[in-house]
Amino acid sequence: MLRRMTLPLCRVAWLCALLVSPVLGTATELNLYSARKESLIRPLLDQFTRQTGITVNMLSAEGASLLKRLHIEAQRSPADVLLTVDLGQLTRALDAGLLQAVRSEVLEQRIPPEYRDAAGHWYGLSLRARVIIYNRTLQDAPPADYLQLAEPGLRVCMRSSNNVYNQSLVAALLGRYGQERTTAWLQGLVANFVRPPQGGDRDQIRAVAAGVCDLAVVNSYYLGAMLNASTDRDVQAARSVALQWPERDVHVNLGGAAVVRYAPHVEAAIALLEFLVGDVAQRWLTEQNFEYPVVEHIAPAATLQAWGTFVPDTKALATLGQYQAPALLLMDHAGWR
Ligand code: FE
Repeated sequence: MLRRMTLPLCRVAWLCALLVSPVLGTATELNLYSARKESLIRPLLDQFTRQTGITVNMLSAEGASLLKRLHIEAQRSPADVLLTVDLGQLTRALDAGLLQAVRSEVLEQRIPPEYRDAAGHWYGLSLRARVIIYNRTLQDAPPADYLQLAEPGLRVCMRSSNNVYNQSLVAALLGRYGQERTTAWLQGLVANFVRPPQGGDRDQIRAVAAGVCDLAVVNSYYLGAMLNASTDRDVQAARSVALQWPERDVHVNLGGAAVVRYAPHVEAAIALLEFLVGDVAQRWLTEQNFEYPVVEHIAPAATLQAWGTFVPDTKALATLGQYQAPALLLMDHAGWR
């Protein structure tokens, strides 16, 4: 519509080109492959559409299936942006040649270097911490780090090893401690499982609250969401547990995004990434999803601030993708189903 309105003004060729070209270069839609659940990101995307006029078509699936799909579609893929809940998936996509490097002053200024690829292949949008939780009635001091979860006699609940969050946690430990120590740790940990791995992170919180087990490992935003839930049951369960930050090297992951190698709408894709690290989106991600903002001047939601601060293990981020497959093998060998 804008283009048609400007055309009658175009009597001088260069002026005409100037008026029309930015409009011609602007996409009206964008295709997003998302490992984030649609309900958790749609309100933000709608805001982006209102702001830019760019409609976002979304395909949601698990990260691994999205990667497979990008691989099969190759040059024919309509995908512009890949959005994941785990950095390992982004670095695997990069290794498979599925991403392209993009540069943006906004992204470089707003995202600290440790939370983005130096060449611009992927950008972190939010920080997610995987923490130890324990029942508040626990008599003994809770484990001071992940390794202590393997000490004999503890009662631990865990979700299954096919979950990417646990694969990334073990990948980070494998990168730091090596195979032998990680294998021994896994054996001790699995011996402490009070029930076969089952359910999601919220179910681990409920199980600890109910006394099924004393300890579990969950992403902190699930605890944040349950503390602020509309159902009394979830609020009560969340209040019955406490969060234990490992002393140092807290396992963190990134919700992140990247521009796909053959993206038909690169400019629009960059615009979406920039929007997602803007103040509005960063605030939304922490206030609604209880994740930690990657942009330093945005304060975490009040619930998160009440938990205090922590020291994230940013070193492990770049190699999560590389260690996920070997981590899963070790988990399997240790009997973590
Ligand atoms: Fe999650």
